[in-house]
Amino acid sequence: MKKLVSIVIPAFNEEENLITIIDRIEKVFECLGYNFEIIIVDDGSSDNTINNLKNEIANKHHLYFIEFSRNFGHQAALMAGLNNANGDCVISMDADLQHPPEMLTQMLQKWEEGYEVVYTRRLPDPSLPFKKRKFSELFYKLLNSLSDVEIESGTADFRLLDKIVVKNLNQFKEMDPFVRGLVKLVGFKQFAIDYIPAERFKGSSKYSLAKMRRLALHGVTSLSIKPLYTAVYLGFFFSFLSLLYIPYILFAFYEGTEVSGWASLIMTVVFFGGLQLIILGFLGIYLGKMFMQAKNRPNYIIRSTNIK
Ligand code: UDP
Ligand code: MG
Repeated sequence: MKKLVSIVIPAFNEEENLITIIDRIEKVFECLGYNFEIIIVDDGSSDNTINNLKNEIANKHHLYFIEFSRNFGHQAALMAGLNNANGDCVISMDADLQHPPEMLTQMLQKWEEGYEVVYTRRLPDPSLPFKKRKFSELFYKLLNSLSDVEIESGTADFRLLDKIVVKNLNQFKEMDPFVRGLVKLVGFKQFAIDYIPAERFKGSSKYSLAKMRRLALHGVTSLSIKPLYTAVYLGFFFSFLSLLYIPYILFAFYEGTEVSGWASLIMTVVFFGGLQLIILGFLGIYLGKMFMQAKNRPNYIIRSTNIK
């Protein structure tokens, strides 16, 4: 009995890429001894993604789609794929061919060797815009210093998960899952493969800088409550500093020496105003997450699918 491999591909306005990626995946599997299914999750595209897909399905028995009722985001689409995949392992990848389908062979080989998670690490890509590269570097630094779960630089959502890992991930009932973090969190035997990402095949990136910023903040606050502790430590630190400074001012006052003040006063006010807002903001984010979680709304809504 051949093993079944599920490929999950979130797609948001990827009409120009889908047919090509399906073709390339089929080619790869021609030389491998597996059964496979491709599950495309249409994340509320406004172009022809879903129509093209439905046309393809007519003559491809291994092709499945899940159509969302609107755009719910990449992570939600990924989870929908994991929730509905039946494979002995599930491989997630992007629709834009930046994740070379030819790497599947190597990933499957590692899986056969007994690794339950085979994830990939993107090597720094010199052709990426400087702003995005720096942001990505900063993203992982910040994420790791503020979080309990270490996420290696360059890991994206291109990975193979054994069905036992998928089963465990599917049990996480959290709002807005940050899949990258959850995969680290569940443990299991993990193996990393380095690769050089290809250029996006067609179309433009669906991740604006604003979306990346949101993902970064979300990554930190959904994996740990370290920022709250940091706030407490900062509080102690500055209280201690002020304890040293207050006697100095009192002494100067007593001596009658004039303590000049405007510049330092404004600086302190501005600095601590900012610091307090940041801390308040973090508190707010955690509170907001509790609010959203309490409502227990679904992470995505499916309009139609051909998965039974
Ligand atoms: N994507 C999605 N929903 C979104 C944004 C992106 O399903 O709201 C998909 C997109 O179609 C692609 C993958 O997520 O398959 C990664 O997006 P993209 O290639 O635009 O990100 P980048 O590689 O530029 O970081
Ligand atoms: Mg891409």
